[in-house]
Amino acid sequence: DKEYVGFATLPNQVHRKSVKKGFDFTLMVAGESGLGKSTLVNSLFLTDLYKDRRLLNAEERITQTVEITKHTVDIEEKGVKLKLTIVDTPGFGDAVNNTECWKSVADYIDQQFEQYFRDESGLNRKNIQDNRVHCCLYFISPFGHGLRPLDVEFMKALHEKVNIVPVLAKADTLTPMEVKRKKIKIREEIEQYGIKIYQFPECDSDEDEDFKQQDQELKDSIPFAVIGSNTVVEAKGKRVRGRLYPWGIVEDLKDVTRETHYENYRAHCIQSMTR
Ligand code: GDP
Ligand code: MG
Repeated sequence: DKEYVGFATLPNQVHRKSVKKGFDFTLMVAGESGLGKSTLVNSLFLTDLYKDRRLLNAEERITQTVEITKHTVDIEEKGVKLKLTIVDTPGFGDAVNNTECWKSVADYIDQQFEQYFRDESGLNRKNIQDNRVHCCLYFISPFGHGLRPLDVEFMKALHEKVNIVPVLAKADTLTPMEVKRKKIKIREEIEQYGIKIYQFPECDSDEDEDFKQQDQELKDSIPFAVIGSNTVVEAKGKRVRGRLYPWGIVEDLKDVTRETHYENYRAHCIQSMTR
């Protein structure tokens, strides 16, 4: 049971239709080079891509990411279909010039909005392929003291465009105490620098206590500690892989993408068209 990614858990009635039809989701990973971004997405979602290269081990098949790459996988869990698109990005340090390292990533996100905007204004509006980025896992180094200046710059450049979910990379290199302290430090700095990370939805007041407690634990674990090589995370709350993408949160990430980030983009476009 622990091996599930978890999107099939507890689909409620409201979402029954999407469950039947299947849904799509675009996840981006970003952050400094060498923090295990590619390893994590590969170990979580993309293992199928390497079926015919079974002889290579995980380490050998991952090479440094030098450009933005997109992979799509179809996953099915308990009869629920998910078309997952992973957007892997080169980290800072991979590029020759690190100033404005966020630029190509920001441009990529904008291009997806632009494409959607064009399609939405076109004739075939019913069958739009939605490539907008719904969530960006932002990797933070376990070796620094909290955030680095580039982290701040990067997240601030993107926070109006995409839902940022910060993660503490390579958590296996830290003791549980260090993980705890770093998380607190990072949360404080996120606040201090005015970085707007994704806000998990409020939990319904009629949920049971167990659920509320789990929900609070989830919110208190930000930035999520991740380990790339095996599964995802965070010792205390068992099925965290499931809890990173429970149904309501996936839907919420898409809602925020559509209602906030895309609407901002759209408003800008229309404004500049009428100027
Ligand atoms: P990226 O540049 O962020 O995409 O990083 P990679 O996925 O290419 O990984 C960089 C190196 O870190 C590789 O040698 C990985 O095997 C290693 N690595 C990846 N994830 C982890 C992790 O969670 N813990 C540790 N200790 N090493 C990791
Ligand atoms: Mg990479």
